[in-house]
Amino acid sequence: MEFLCADGSEFATVTEEDCEKKAKYGELVILGYNGYLPLGDRGRRRSKFVLYKRTDANGVKKSKDYLVQSPQNSRAILDTNQHSISYTLSRNQAVIVEYKEDAETDMFQVGRSSESPIDFVVMDTLPGDKKDAKVMQSTISRFACRLLVNRNESSKARIFAAGFDSSRNIFLGEKATKWKDDNVEIDGLTTNGVLIMHPKGQFCGGNAQCGLWRECSVGGDIFSLRDSRSAQQKGHKVTEESNILQDGTLIDLCGATLLWRSSEGLQHSPTKRDLEKLIDEINAGRPQCPVGLNTLVIPRKVSLVEKMNQPYVYLNCGHVQGHHDWGQDKQTGARRCPMCFQVGPIETLCMGVEPAFYVDSGPPTYCFNPCGHMATEKTVKYWANVDIPYGTNGFQSVCPFCATPLSGCPGYLRLIFQDNLD
Ligand SMILES: [Zn+2]
Ligand SMILES: [Zn+2]
Repeated sequence: MEFLCADGSEFATVTEEDCEKKAKYGELVILGYNGYLPLGDRGRRRSKFVLYKRTDANGVKKSKDYLVQSPQNSRAILDTNQHSISYTLSRNQAVIVEYKEDAETDMFQVGRSSESPIDFVVMDTLPGDKKDAKVMQSTISRFACRLLVNRNESSKARIFAAGFDSSRNIFLGEKATKWKDDNVEIDGLTTNGVLIMHPKGQFCGGNAQCGLWRECSVGGDIFSLRDSRSAQQKGHKVTEESNILQDGTLIDLCGATLLWRSSEGLQHSPTKRDLEKLIDEINAGRPQCPVGLNTLVIPRKVSLVEKMNQPYVYLNCGHVQGHHDWGQDKQTGARRCPMCFQVGPIETLCMGVEPAFYVDSGPPTYCFNPCGHMATEKTVKYWANVDIPYGTNGFQSVCPFCATPLSGCPGYLRLIFQDNLD
């Protein structure tokens, strides 16, 4: 197995063993993928990005700021080795903030651009199986956000809106929301903003609650949400909260939502192998279809080819059965469950195999409604109570494995298998 390691060298592909030797800061996992992108993970485009300590620090910190007449011609902007942020105030006035190298931090950048400064390329995520998903117009910024992790204190991973481009610049245009109050450094917001949500309580264990969504500024301060996603007026400053990511923090880039899992938090989560073992255990119990009496096999990946042993769940009652025509209403497609006679939709069952989304370990006895992704009871209950930004000012709960909005209340159900029959 090969995967990309962010060790400072571009496109470095190393083996998993090599990476295990490096200090791992954490993982950024895109909500809506069950362990891989539909066409496979490639280079910096993948369903999750593992942050490793870099060989050499590449972080930056503010050094000085000053007013200029024409930012395009200023030395800091023209110097492609100099990190700088240009806040355009008017046609002929801008504040330039210069950044200098910071030996204490490692920087990681996320965005839609495939240019080299972006470590993790993130595209808009559509709900469902994404077979023929095509995004017509992206809302994710090409240089959406940057993370700075303290090399000596890896629990301090901070997020900032906007990322440096290939010329090491960030430009905030005339229309971008920005401000400079008395004695306060200049700061601003990006067009669609970077929203974060720190869960209240520990992500691992499953007792955390959804926290409030906030907006993170270019300078890393925290604000309440704007009236709508790209409104001109910024929210009010929330001084008691910070941009330091905690295990389970969600980052919304307007088009894709990322989950931050700290290295420490991941040690309390199941591994992919643990999850595969759990599927094997259920399959070893030889669950049966009560109608066809055939043995069902829970897949790790749903095959598009209809298989006799693919289990289906009745979404109103949770009974698990094989494929059969019993109780099917030819007109509506609804089915009457042969076990309890409730009428409703059915869906293919499939294991949620992305370990980062699990809040605890245990048998996957529940599934999300309506997509049929299986997980532990605490995991489905946690995600059913998490609001994910949707559209310009709405929220909804989604299945983390496929990003399908949950339907009904509570949005999940307990599975009833017929197995181990004597
Ligand atoms: Zn039933
Ligand atoms: Zn799902």
